[in-house]
Amino acid sequence: MSFTRRQFLATAGLAALGQGCTSPSGSANAESFDFAFLTDMHVQPERGATDGLRLCVRSVNALAKRPDFAITGGDLVMDALDVGLERSRMEFGLFDECMRGLELPVHHTLGNHDVVGWSAKGLVPDAHHDFGKKLFAERYGRGRTYRSFSHRGWRFVLLDSVGYDAATRSYRGWIDEEQLAWLRADLAGPGRGMPTVIVTHIPFYSVWHQVHSGPTARLDAKALVGNVHEFRKLFDQHDVRLVLSGHGHVVERIEIGRIAYIQGGAVSGMWWKGPVFGKPEGYGVITCRSDGTFDWNYRDFGWKART
Ligand SMILES: [Zn+2]
Repeated sequence: MSFTRRQFLATAGLAALGQGCTSPSGSANAESFDFAFLTDMHVQPERGATDGLRLCVRSVNALAKRPDFAITGGDLVMDALDVGLERSRMEFGLFDECMRGLELPVHHTLGNHDVVGWSAKGLVPDAHHDFGKKLFAERYGRGRTYRSFSHRGWRFVLLDSVGYDAATRSYRGWIDEEQLAWLRADLAGPGRGMPTVIVTHIPFYSVWHQVHSGPTARLDAKALVGNVHEFRKLFDQHDVRLVLSGHGHVVERIEIGRIAYIQGGAVSGMWWKGPVFGKPEGYGVITCRSDGTFDWNYRDFGWKART
């Protein structure tokens, strides 16, 4: 890549920053690339959800500065936990159909609603091939529910934050020991010294419940990742810059030390029933620079909920 081209890309990246930009900008000369972050699509046949996701996909395709790739933050489908296998498969089929229009490579993160049959209802037998996380792993993760990759000097880690709660036969926010050990090795090995983006469906931190319900509001085990402390301590030893999440459908940004914890709203808004506390259906565009800084924008793709 020539110097002129690099300059052009840097300028294009800065020009693409909208009013939603809230993080400190890096050096104007740093080379940059964008990626899109789409979370909580919750695809279903009802409420025009497939038209909504297609509109979102067209909006991403039309961005003036084309992102290098997209990451989804989980909850691809409305729900696989509490429904029969036929309904789950139909929703995943609709999701794939909509996403085929995306003109970018895409990496999917597992959400709780993408796990098949973890429910007291017991609609899917435990022994079934597609039970639990197997359907997602085979369809989107080459057999895995968490993984990592590098892109132009940055490291990206997609975590599986959906733990099993035997007491309720459902999920809780939890990342198991095996994954923690894998992450330790990944950050110290292939990711060593690289600015890193972590993606987790269930957030590590959120103040939204306190904002909404009062300062002493208690959270249940489903709201946040319960063993987050182990991860935060690990992140402090490495160059983790950004932790992206979904799950709560709100847009919020919490900075602790040098790490920004951003919950990226929802493509589905309030499960295709309209905006979430005034925030429209949308997705994130993140500009990563070679100096390790980034900018994040939340973009409204113009969907109007159908009644
Ligand atoms: Zn969720």
